[in-house]
Amino acid sequence: MRVRRKKFAILQLIPKHQNMLPNQLVRALSLLKYHQVEYAVYDLEASLEAEAGQAVASLFAKIREDEVVVSLACHYNYPKLTSLVLLFMYQGLLKGKQIHVCSPYLSFYPVKQICCENMFFHFVEIDEFLVSYSGWPFVAEGLLLKPMAEVLRDQNYTNREFWTHLTWGCRSSCSFCHNWATAKGRERLVYSGYDEVLSLMQTARALGARKFQFADPDFLGDAAYVGGFLEKLTEAGGFLPWRAKARLDRINESMYEKMLAAGCDRIFFGVEHVSSRMLDRVNKGENTPRLLLDFIKYWGTRVQLDVSFLTGIREETVSELRENIRYISRIDKIRGIEAYLGYVILYSGSARKVAFSDYLVAFLLVCNMLPEEWEIGQDFLRRLLQLCQQEPFFGFFILTENDHSLALFQELLRQNKADIAPDFLSDFARLWTSVDGRLAKIVAGSKTTGEVNQKIDQWLLK
Ligand code: SF4
Repeated sequence: MRVRRKKFAILQLIPKHQNMLPNQLVRALSLLKYHQVEYAVYDLEASLEAEAGQAVASLFAKIREDEVVVSLACHYNYPKLTSLVLLFMYQGLLKGKQIHVCSPYLSFYPVKQICCENMFFHFVEIDEFLVSYSGWPFVAEGLLLKPMAEVLRDQNYTNREFWTHLTWGCRSSCSFCHNWATAKGRERLVYSGYDEVLSLMQTARALGARKFQFADPDFLGDAAYVGGFLEKLTEAGGFLPWRAKARLDRINESMYEKMLAAGCDRIFFGVEHVSSRMLDRVNKGENTPRLLLDFIKYWGTRVQLDVSFLTGIREETVSELRENIRYISRIDKIRGIEAYLGYVILYSGSARKVAFSDYLVAFLLVCNMLPEEWEIGQDFLRRLLQLCQQEPFFGFFILTENDHSLALFQELLRQNKADIAPDFLSDFARLWTSVDGRLAKIVAGSKTTGEVNQKIDQWLLK
């Protein structure tokens, strides 16, 4: 058997894990410890720098090893993409090194478009990459418990949530969602075995975790499969409280009771918009406001609810946005419900063909993924803009589906300036405050999205 023994730089570039443990990274580090392979961890999340660009640049400058393995281990997809953006913005500092980027998620993207001769993409998670690359034999989870406990302590991963997927993919095809990729000519759901998931939950408990999360795009996508799992979980008992995401048209009272009996304490629903015209526009395929009302009748505040909404849908008018914000405000006031408002990004190639560039969308996405305590400097925004313009792969970051994007951003800015800006608008707040509020001024003083782009070009690329 081919066994490699060498020193790796493990690069953790996701700036904010939102308290969710990077499971596969922990497993990868545990495997390195178990096999007594030297490694050094470079963790962006641990940076003490005050500005985003400086944080990435100074982290890269410290890397001495020739082989850099980048972990994109995260329960959620936007942070993975943000991580990739940061890697590319500062890749010049890693010249001469071999960079391995690990993530099955990237197989949905045309990464071949990216021209970078020292970068190699592996469509597996970092732990699987190290096993195959190093030629290690299989190590059962239980054998890794001791090194895992050491990794959690050494990396200061305390009070973090473990997570996994029971199923991955979705049978629906909402136009704004990356999961469309699994619904087109592929096996629509990928299943994890019941025992595999239960074993991870037990490991999490043994390692002192207090919460667990199912990161399935639609936890109830296969009612029979999830029903069987919930029975097993209920029989096993002693579970950790857990959260899951589901479509509203898949939940009913009986399924809800089964989820509660198995330890569910938090559910996420994507409601998106109060307007049925907008729901049709994004191919949502369900009347979410009505279904949410039906659910609330038997909900009984027995779990915390997260409900998410969208703006930036093509043809959305300012009055539709206002109507949505009024609706979200009412929902957000209900005790036990927390609401969020996000912005559309286009993953689907056909949707992108009829869209146009909007730099604000790129800034919005990346800024939201950075820790609040980091400043965002002009050089950072400049590099981000250059990347979006020069690398076709990152085109989806600067596209919006909406011809009236500027009007929507101006409305969001107005709402944000209200005496008490609602919490669910906080995702946009950073856009208005970055670089001394310059972006806010550009938005407020422009007549078209083209003018916004032009002013940003003049400001950042001069
Ligand atoms: S239902 Fe949810 S996970 Fe499925 S395609 Fe729509 S947004 Fe994506």
